[in-house]
Amino acid sequence: MIEARGVCKSFGPVEVLKDVDLTVSRGEVVVVIGPSGSGKTTLIRTLNGLETINAGRIVVDGITLQDQATIARGKMDRTALRNVRLELGMVFQRFNLFPTLTALQNIMQGPYRVRGVSRSEAADRAHALLQKMNLTAKAHHYPHQLSGGQQQRVAIARALAMQPRAMLFDEATSALDPELIGEVLEVMRKLASEGMTMVIVTHEMAFAAQVADRVIVMDAGRIIEEGPPDTIFKAPARERTRAFLRAVIERKVE
Ligand code: ADP
Ligand code: MG
Repeated sequence: MIEARGVCKSFGPVEVLKDVDLTVSRGEVVVVIGPSGSGKTTLIRTLNGLETINAGRIVVDGITLQDQATIARGKMDRTALRNVRLELGMVFQRFNLFPTLTALQNIMQGPYRVRGVSRSEAADRAHALLQKMNLTAKAHHYPHQLSGGQQQRVAIARALAMQPRAMLFDEATSALDPELIGEVLEVMRKLASEGMTMVIVTHEMAFAAQVADRVIVMDAGRIIEEGPPDTIFKAPARERTRAFLRAVIERKVE
């Protein structure tokens, strides 16, 4: 479904991704963990073309988004970019909802304006998604009338309304008050159990252990270790992984 091969990325002189290989199969849930600054965000942004790469290749559902040719040309193919963006829904730390639109309108916007779905069908779909996100009562609320957890669930519904083949989550709960994290993780868990292909960057290790088919550990721009959650969390091979997991646990206890 998603294939990154030999991906290198620099910002000026700083190399932030160093020969990264990542393959995600259809229906697989891959969780990416690692210290701040290790390149997690940059990696998932390369997958949907929010970042160009300096070497390597990105292929999504058979669409070559970035490769030697796009690198030489200095830009991606517009059609490929558009198609990949339609296939990959993305949810960020910041919810980025349209402030002047209600929850329902935020969710309807993409299908109606981009996908050419009729207004009534877009509304039907949006209502169904609101229900799935346990937000039926909030359909006509504006973002500022919603809690962070509710806003993030609207953002997830908005991404799902485009009927993506896979979802990318970049620290979707990191900006939330602790008591609101659970409700967002719950809808992510539901999506995973339905077989959605997901790439999830998170610091929520208990959640990661529950949903991940595979955990990827990044450090200083490289994947240093990957494997099933049982192995990564209980018997990691690398000292760097152990140190990172210890640091996360200590921060939690503080
Ligand atoms: P993570 O998500 O794991 O915290 P990032 O991918 O955000 O890591 O960042 C990896 C490195 O790239 C960091 O050193 C960060 O400062 C740097 N970086 C990220 N985005 C940019 C940018 N737009 N310009 C320059 N440096 C950047
Ligand atoms: Mg990040």
